[in-house]
Amino acid sequence: IGDGGRAAARCGGGAVMGSKNLKAIVVRAGRGAATTPLPAEFRALARRAFEQVRDHPNVAGLRDWGTVSLVAIKNQSGDLPARNHQLGQVPWADRIDAAVIARYTRKTKGCFACPIRCGRVTRVESGPHAGDLEGPEYESLDALGPMCWIDDPEVIIHANRLCNDLGLDTISTGVVIALAMECHQRGLLDDPDFSLEWGDVDTVLGLIERIAHRQALGNLLADGARRAAEAIGPEAARYAMHVKGMELPRQEPRVAKGFGLGHATSNRGADHLYALPTIDLASNLEAASRFFPPEIIPALMDPDDETYKPDLVVFSEHYCAVSDALGVCKFTTAETYALFPDDLARGLSALWGREVTAEDLLTAGERIVNLERLYNVRLGLSRTDDRLPTRFTGEPLDVQSFDHSEPTHVARLRDFDRMLARYYQLRGWDENGIPTPETLQRLELDKWIL
Ligand code: SF4
Repeated sequence: IGDGGRAAARCGGGAVMGSKNLKAIVVRAGRGAATTPLPAEFRALARRAFEQVRDHPNVAGLRDWGTVSLVAIKNQSGDLPARNHQLGQVPWADRIDAAVIARYTRKTKGCFACPIRCGRVTRVESGPHAGDLEGPEYESLDALGPMCWIDDPEVIIHANRLCNDLGLDTISTGVVIALAMECHQRGLLDDPDFSLEWGDVDTVLGLIERIAHRQALGNLLADGARRAAEAIGPEAARYAMHVKGMELPRQEPRVAKGFGLGHATSNRGADHLYALPTIDLASNLEAASRFFPPEIIPALMDPDDETYKPDLVVFSEHYCAVSDALGVCKFTTAETYALFPDDLARGLSALWGREVTAEDLLTAGERIVNLERLYNVRLGLSRTDDRLPTRFTGEPLDVQSFDHSEPTHVARLRDFDRMLARYYQLRGWDENGIPTPETLQRLELDKWIL
């Protein structure tokens, strides 16, 4: 946990620290700490970028409500995963949505110099779940709420706080508990201490503690969804929501199809922040028309059309890699496009005193994605690891009307293999997802040719 509430949670960073008996890293700027004077032009551009983000209409939801502003929208479209992705909506979203979380919010919180301040500090005043939390964020809220069928915001806040205190990733924790609950539903798993029933508060809170302390069933779940399912038995594998061993973040791949492909291809396992392909879901025509040819935009912007989702994912992965490399929050870049690649390129040009273009940056992003892929290839990963759990490719998802009175349509991934093939083709990777020598030469990475 950094800065009191932000967690470097995913990918097992905490487990690595734990294995080294490393409890914390403290950084304190001392008096007289060396500072490098920044060029005046860079400072002016940074000020302009600050104002551009502050005044951009696409950041309003994050600023006014935080990431939980997504709950209502996603519940409407079928993109609010529930009961381990057996459902994409809950009939009680108004018990956990942004308006409800606002009642617990004491203040907003932002990272250094951020004009959005998407963080929320919440407090449960009294009762068994009393206490403070920086959060919950949308991802934690869905993982510990709808995924486990928990509809009490105070329980979700408490579960989130427990995860933070115990050093657990909220997404992985919620997903692995949902796995246990579905295995119980299917007659594959029982526990002497907890009911494992959907919505059982004692199960969720108790298992969080047991996972952290590796006790009883918690010891099995602490290994993550993939290994836990292997231990439960062969039938459990289909209920383990992971890619490359990392538990799925809180998008529904049959509805948010670009996210689904991005989860599958992400080099670090399923992670919404690896590609963050939002352009279609956010109907962001301005961004689409800047980066894609006009003839593909109608299909690309249709969330249900799979044809050009690979194009969207490839571009978004590059922009995310650039954002990460520069330390720029993706809520200002690939999430909202309050900042475009040329904005970042202008700033970098002023800082370095030489021209850097948006194309240079996006190519740097492509090089990063390829280098990460080469690392994975060296570890033996290939096309078989760029897969989604079979639930998403084999089971349709019923989507209900806004008031849940009637089904409106069935969401499904029609041809995932076709999306994956186009993704590899656009990347210049072979049919096994391995960068070709020509691609590595083009990216000046030829010394890494395998
Ligand atoms: S930098 Fe990003 S994560 Fe931090 S407060 Fe601003 S928008 Fe939120």
